[in-house]
Amino acid sequence: MENCIFCKIIAGDIPSPRYYEDDKIIIIKDIQPQAKLHYLCIPKTHFALLSEMDEEKLEIVKYCFKTIPTLEEKLGLQDGYRVIINQGVNGGQTVPHLHIHLLGGEKLDA
Ligand code: 5GP
Ligand code: ZN
Repeated sequence: MENCIFCKIIAGDIPSPRYYEDDKIIIIKDIQPQAKLHYLCIPKTHFALLSEMDEEKLEIVKYCFKTIPTLEEKLGLQDGYRVIINQGVNGGQTVPHLHIHLLGGEKLDA
């Protein structure tokens, strides 16, 4: 998708270290971390909103939630973490490419 910053990162046009990558997702660190550890799990398929999900995209979201727990130790999230998906204007979504925030590495405020 043109002009999508996450598509550019996925394509390698914008360099960003990958803490995990496979054929369906990448995990990078957020450029403006809101916690000691702040990762973004980004599907390689471009779509912005959960409301756009068809069966194929549902499989991708499912895959994210299946894979993330297997990476907890590797990412330093074994003591717990917060999962956030911002949706649309009111949700504060600034990048219209669906992504899952993973915040941890410290005890977060409730
Ligand atoms: P949103 O607000 O859409 O839920 O989250 C977008 C996140 O992407 C923000 O937390 C922002 O800091 C992060 N971000 C925006 N541009 C870049 C970038 O070029 N590289 C990385 N690593 N993170 C980015
Ligand atoms: Zn995109």
